[in-house]
Amino acid sequence: MPVADNLLKIKKELPSHVTLVAVSKTRTVEEIKEAVDAGHVDFGENKVQEMLQKHEQLPQTIRWHMIGHLQTNKVKQVVSFVHLIHSVDSLKLLKEINKEAAKISRKVNCLLQVHIAKEETKFGLDYNEVEEILRQEDSFKNIVLCGLMGMATNTTDEQIIRNEFRSLKKLFNKIRGGRKNSEFSILSMGMSGDYQLAIEEGSNMIRVGTAIFGDRDYSSNV
Ligand SMILES: *Cc1c(COP(=O)(O)O)cnc(C)c1O
Repeated sequence: MPVADNLLKIKKELPSHVTLVAVSKTRTVEEIKEAVDAGHVDFGENKVQEMLQKHEQLPQTIRWHMIGHLQTNKVKQVVSFVHLIHSVDSLKLLKEINKEAAKISRKVNCLLQVHIAKEETKFGLDYNEVEEILRQEDSFKNIVLCGLMGMATNTTDEQIIRNEFRSLKKLFNKIRGGRKNSEFSILSMGMSGDYQLAIEEGSNMIRVGTAIFGDRDYSSNV
């Protein structure tokens, strides 16, 4: 049972304050079941359609994390059950989540995705956009702002990765320090290749796919 073995091995090594989100994108329901049977509850997907299908086929006890770019026109499909949206990358998206959540009287947990990598391609807010959202926060009655998410540059240069994580942690501390409530408590950073560094730099939620399920095969999806 490689999936269960990998999962338990990683979990055993994690500090207790760190939550592991098993990134199950492209994986089959059977593979996910193996992780569920091993006691795992937090799973991350990056595509709405895929998450919906798996949500229908798998136990309702699973906590689904949306970690990929979310289009505003797809928000209403996930808003009723999603546990945490990591990838809020625009004010417009946050407004839409708030609107759809209000319709069903739900409060949706969200993280602001901050752009920390050197790459142009990675989605995320810059610091000014984060500030703008925080200024408007009181108008989002159906959102719970739980923290920040970031992805480091895909590089073998540890120092670059460390610096990016460190800057996000600094922003996280700054925002958290200015608040009375403790809801703002999640710092989602770190993937298979860099989660150890991320934890050293203050992450308390990691998103790990390959190290649990093995290499992804996209060929059948094309
Ligand atoms: C795919 C993905 C991950 C997991 O990546 P691995 O390298 O397989 O661990 C983490 N975060 C996001 C946003 C992803 O899209």
